[in-house]
Amino acid sequence: MATATKEAAVRGGAWLIEPTDPSTVMTPEKLTDEHKLIHQTATEFINGEVIPATGRLEQKDWALQRELIKKCGSLGLFGTNIPEEYGGVDLDKISTLIVSEVISGHASFATTFGAQANLTVLPIYMFGTEAQKQHYLPGLVSGELAGAYGLSESGSGSDALGAKTKAMKQPDGSYVLSGEKMWISNGGFADVFIIFAKVDGEHFSAFIVERKWPGVSSGKEEHKLGLHGSSTTPIILQDVRVPADALLGEVGKGHKIAFNVLNFGRFKLGAMCSGGTKINIREAAKYAASRKQFNTPIASFGAIKHKLGEMTARAYALDSMLYRTAGLIERRIAASPKQANDGTPTLQALEEFAVEASIAKVLGSETLDFAIDENLQIHGGNGFVHDYPPEGHYRDARVNRIFEGTNEINRLLIPGMLMKKAVKGELPLLAAAKALQDEIMSPSMGVPDDGDGVLAAEARAVAACKKVVLMVAGTAMQRYGQKLEQEQEVLSFLADILIDAYSADSAVLRAQDAAGRQLSNASLHEDAARVAVNEAAGRIELAARSALAAMADGDVLRTQLAALRRLLKVTPVNTVALRRRLADATVAKGGYVF
Ligand SMILES: Cc1cc2nc3c(=O)[nH]c(=O)nc-3n(C[C@H](O)[C@H](O)[C@H](O)COP(=O)(O)OP(=O)(O)OC[C@H]3O[C@@H](n4cnc5c(N)ncnc54)[C@H](O)[C@@H]3O)c2cc1C
Repeated sequence: MATATKEAAVRGGAWLIEPTDPSTVMTPEKLTDEHKLIHQTATEFINGEVIPATGRLEQKDWALQRELIKKCGSLGLFGTNIPEEYGGVDLDKISTLIVSEVISGHASFATTFGAQANLTVLPIYMFGTEAQKQHYLPGLVSGELAGAYGLSESGSGSDALGAKTKAMKQPDGSYVLSGEKMWISNGGFADVFIIFAKVDGEHFSAFIVERKWPGVSSGKEEHKLGLHGSSTTPIILQDVRVPADALLGEVGKGHKIAFNVLNFGRFKLGAMCSGGTKINIREAAKYAASRKQFNTPIASFGAIKHKLGEMTARAYALDSMLYRTAGLIERRIAASPKQANDGTPTLQALEEFAVEASIAKVLGSETLDFAIDENLQIHGGNGFVHDYPPEGHYRDARVNRIFEGTNEINRLLIPGMLMKKAVKGELPLLAAAKALQDEIMSPSMGVPDDGDGVLAAEARAVAACKKVVLMVAGTAMQRYGQKLEQEQEVLSFLADILIDAYSADSAVLRAQDAAGRQLSNASLHEDAARVAVNEAAGRIELAARSALAAMADGDVLRTQLAALRRLLKVTPVNTVALRRRLADATVAKGGYVF
């Protein structure tokens, strides 16, 4: 489908300093018939084929897992972003987001899926030679071959470039690989591995390695907290001779592959978590409607409505942020000159939106964990036992905060990558921070009151939140300069502010667009956006105060806190009433209302 219209390239992070017209934002309300069809195909596969196989998958029936991989491939789900000549179906990034959301209906299979589609197919498509693409992609996309991604080692997870696996170059140009990879998804049965190793013990590089090559073996299955239906093993490489043309990309450029693959992986993980969040809302709404205590359905108690309303508002903000970002990535790709067979535009677009991808990963995994926890709580004692779904969700979801870069690492990356863009002049953030500093000194400081249209107060609050980003980031850069990267707590506060600002902004734009298009449930959109902004503004104020207090004291701090108060003058809204409306709509529908 690859969109063809050329337009000015959109830039990652620009939302922070440039206004956005709500009608231009991609939202789930704008899905095409093609999007709906892929949603239906993926849903039928997960509900009809994968969920019924849960028992056998959890018994580690990898022959069945391979059958499911083949079925998934035959439906085109591994190849949504791959051109037809390599066996793909070449859809847009929104379709990929939809597939990721739906696949989350089975957390274990979603992990298997991610290892294949995101971590094996994509690196070969984006970095492989024509011969490598021709050789491996059709089999991987159709599911005839199963793939896995070997980056982590027992001594190097977050510090992935510290890998010890070696690839010793031989006189004939081939390499001999030795080392051990750890926690590899699909490790027990994959045929093809992307393996990261240091050429001659020094130059971090990637290779395509086949299981059938002598010296490749899997270690024992890990006994995990959750994801029991997904294979996780070490991969042992014992003097494996690999041909020269197994090198993926260039010697010493493995980090480019590892980091870019993670960019998209993080975005898709955010989408999977969004799908999981909606499942938890559905289960919680249904249980709350049917469970009676004191002769009353628990759904009618305010404390339960609070939970359902908050779960819905958070899911709405996440959803809005993901579709908006997918739309931006798509527009970026559409604006680049596309060459046949070339993954370059995709690669560049994913690099451009790396900050947003990390935001998706952190916000997605933490929203899902929040929703699961509340779903479990709504289930009471039943939530704690195996016969009801929240117990399994609880165990399965925990790893989302660990893999694809831990949430701590992603929190450091979010402001870090943004500041790099600022320093390189790719985004005029420094000028914006300087302008804000001047504004803070002026008596008329604040966010201009630009009318009373739909969600005008919330839009002003979001504009103020973005200024808080500039204020805290500007102060941090002035205070620490190059040494800012050592101030992890300040960076993490800044990440929290950015995550809340971007998701609240996305929620407001989507609700404004829903109102503009006079959707029948536009008022529910407004309710969700108002709760999201109100809560985000509160958290942002707290994070900003903590960050500023870590960087200054005395009169300087007092002046900054006064400026923060003037900037963030957000009048609280009645979130009790808003959450009740959202909860009632959720219970009436028996699930997520948007
Ligand atoms: C079920 C499962 C499936 C997986 N699948 C794969 C796979 O298919 N392929 C693959 O290559 N890997 C895979 N992994 C590995 C996963 O990516 C790593 O576990 C993850 O990157 C974290 O690395 P680590 O476990 O070594 O933790 P560590 O890096 O040791 O981190 C421990 C703690 O320290 C923190 N920390 C580390 N460094 C810093 C720092 N600089 N600053 C602040 N805090 C820091 C972390 O955030 C974390 O809280 C999988 C893991 C699991 C559990």
